Amino acid sequence: NKRKILNSERIVGLMKKTVLITGSSRGIGRATAEVFAKNHYNIIINYLHSEKDAFSLASSLEEQGHRVMVYRADIAKRDQVEAMVEKSLSTFQTIDVLINNAGIAQQKLFMDITEDDWNRMLNIHVKGMFYCCQCVLPGMIRRKEGKIINVSSIWGMTGASCEVHYSTAKAAVIGFTKALAKELGPSNIQVNCVAPGIIETDMNDLLNEKERSSLLEETPLLRFGTPTDVANAVFFLASTKADFLTGQVLSPNGGFVI
Ligand code: NAD
Repeated sequence: NKRKILNSERIVGLMKKTVLITGSSRGIGRATAEVFAKNHYNIIINYLHSEKDAFSLASSLEEQGHRVMVYRADIAKRDQVEAMVEKSLSTFQTIDVLINNAGIAQQKLFMDITEDDWNRMLNIHVKGMFYCCQCVLPGMIRRKEGKIINVSSIWGMTGASCEVHYSTAKAAVIGFTKALAKELGPSNIQVNCVAPGIIETDMNDLLNEKERSSLLEETPLLRFGTPTDVANAVFFLASTKADFLTGQVLSPNGGFVI
């Protein structure tokens, strides 16, 4: 009987949809994994450095009865992305939703940005997204179904001083999203992006107190966002409620950019 129950749980698990979230051991990616798990998705947690966080998230989701796979891959390396997608497909059969979330931040005066800084920023945000999409898309195109959500930033829309490389990368995410949405529309694949405002994650540790209070003053809702605020917007874009939305930028930013 126990075996029967385990088997039927396994079958239900196989019938569930699967989401791959890059950079999901912490911050926005982690909250997104939690929201998708609550909504009965199988979860693929990708991480690069924070192994402990990735496995603690996985065990907490597994304790709640969810199916989870953890995979270490640098998304800026094509071979590592290919191996991650291959392993994901052999575990879960399909990847129904891809969330390109992994990213880094750096504040530097424009004239101090080195070529290495520039390449690292563009490789992670733009090339990483390119690799992940190229590896995941064949299955989505075959099934004529899929959702891709890319994580941009308000700075990709408005530009941030001392973050020219970051702003460039995040603007590229928006252009990429719009162009890919046009190409994949006939395959019934929706490609959208979220452009979060200031969100309380480790990424914003680089802001000093003065910067934080002036950013807060400019935010009509008078608070910074939580990772879950962004995760909810991402989940909406992945849901059937957003089936007629593609090529769009949804910006959870507390009114910072209107
Ligand atoms: P975070 O630093 O907590 O999380 C980013 C994650 O990406 C980390 O786990 C990191 O290890 C991972 N990562 C970095 N490079 C990687 C690589 N090469 N391969 C695999 N994983 C890698 O920051 P966050 O705030 O949760 O950021 C998530 C996304 O949201 C980023 O794309 C970021 O640019 C974007 N964003 C954040 C904010 C904010 O205010 N926090 C605002 C707008 C957009």
